[in-house]
Amino acid sequence: MTEPEPHSGVYVDGAWRAGSDGRTFEVRNPADDSVLATLADASAPDASDALAAAAAAQSSWGATPVGTRAGLLRELHNAVLERAEEFADLITAESGKTLADARGEVGYGAQFLAWFADQASQLPHGEHYTDPAGAVRILTQYRPVGPCLLITPWNFPLAMITRKLAPALAAGCTSVVKPAAQTPLTAVRLVELLHELGLPAGVVNLLSTTRAVEVSEAVFASPALRKVSFTGSTGVGSALLRAGAERVVNSSMELGGDAPLIVFDDAEPDHLDQVLVAKLRNSGQSCIAANRILVQDASADAFVEALAERFHALRVGAGRAEGTDVGPLIDDAAVRKVSRLVDEAVAAGARIAAQAPLPEGPGSYYPPTLLVDVPGECAIAREEIFGPVACVSRFKDEADAIRTANATQAGLASYVFTQDLSKALRVGTALDFGIVGVNRGFVSTAAAPFGGIKTSGLGREGGLHGLDEYLECQYLSLPVNSPT
Ligand code: NAP
Repeated sequence: MTEPEPHSGVYVDGAWRAGSDGRTFEVRNPADDSVLATLADASAPDASDALAAAAAAQSSWGATPVGTRAGLLRELHNAVLERAEEFADLITAESGKTLADARGEVGYGAQFLAWFADQASQLPHGEHYTDPAGAVRILTQYRPVGPCLLITPWNFPLAMITRKLAPALAAGCTSVVKPAAQTPLTAVRLVELLHELGLPAGVVNLLSTTRAVEVSEAVFASPALRKVSFTGSTGVGSALLRAGAERVVNSSMELGGDAPLIVFDDAEPDHLDQVLVAKLRNSGQSCIAANRILVQDASADAFVEALAERFHALRVGAGRAEGTDVGPLIDDAAVRKVSRLVDEAVAAGARIAAQAPLPEGPGSYYPPTLLVDVPGECAIAREEIFGPVACVSRFKDEADAIRTANATQAGLASYVFTQDLSKALRVGTALDFGIVGVNRGFVSTAAAPFGGIKTSGLGREGGLHGLDEYLECQYLSLPVNSPT
């Protein structure tokens, strides 16, 4: 194998390479717009080569003993954690999130490596039984689905990759990984570690690129592609489902959310800390961020007053700076989008109850903002905000809360705050969402099934069934009495 060139960005068949047309692109720090690195910019021929390498490696990787595959994941887990500060710093540099959030992501991202190493040892072992008439001997076994395309977003540059790559490797699938153009450096570092650990050529291929459409079309053009796993916006997810429809490509989709967070009058006194986590982690740029905060009438005024105090006190700044609570957004376009949503709501009658001060100087910052009395027809009441803006509205009773919470096409995460556990179970069960956090604003763990319903996606990542997404069941039909 050729030794990796640091940060070439494109890794195909066990070697780092320049992109086939020699183009490069810059990765920037959203805190100050400085250039962090220049990477090779993969195009269609690189993508075709990457998939061909994944296809060529599929049968030997699928036949590699599961203990060997799990062992590699454990080594990668240890290697990432040994370099936890390096990874956290890289994540902060390219995504803008605070170092505290980045350290949390390193822990969360590494969890998937350990979790799927353990799950691999419990891979579905298949069954053996006869049909009720006693005529057929039924044998089932599970096989890797085949070469995968794994496409990830910028908001969790490490965890969104390990959440897909760990089960793919554990199940015996080879992959082409396409990280977001804004945050490829963490992916490059992860693949460098896999290379150093001796991963066989072709098992994982990496395409850093600014040409997402061209690259994914080239991968979809090959009949060797058997699976796409995508995390990102609902629009791109449905375009990828269409692209895979013709050849019926196995698809897992983790798409956008519109999370309601319901606070009942009897919420625990310290629920505000959890509300802040659910709203502001990663500057509000999370698919499970609380998008609509619904508070029961009797406690609404006190809630807004207390939350306003907390918002006023937030320190906005570079993710690497000591004491920063909220970092920059990913880029200026994200700032413009959030500004537009807030300005439109204010023009329609919404009131800004609190706004944190902004730092001086450059950077893609938007001030954490608390909005109340938002008219229901405003876009901010219906769209995924993806920024540090909390919209608070009121509800009368349980039925009102459930109706309002469910009035969305998205169905990823939701939150319920009450001390009454039977109410939490009743409301949680009535919520049309894949995830319900009860008295918790942080629900992410590799051990739980993560995923949404309706336009928020298809399939689950993590948990006891995360491996199933990368396996296919084969049934062998045998006569009960073997012919002589
Ligand atoms: P995005 O625009 O959909 O991009 C996600 C990834 O898809 C990036 O790698 C992007 O490449 C690539 N991409 C864009 N257009 C493509 C196309 N036509 N064909 C193939 N790939 C394409 O989403 P984002 O703005 O990065 O992320 C934010 C969204 O992700 C939000 O809606 C959020 O809710 C969702 N999200 C969901 C989850 C979940 O688990 N459900 C987790 C995190 C985020 P480029 O970077 O080159 O554009």
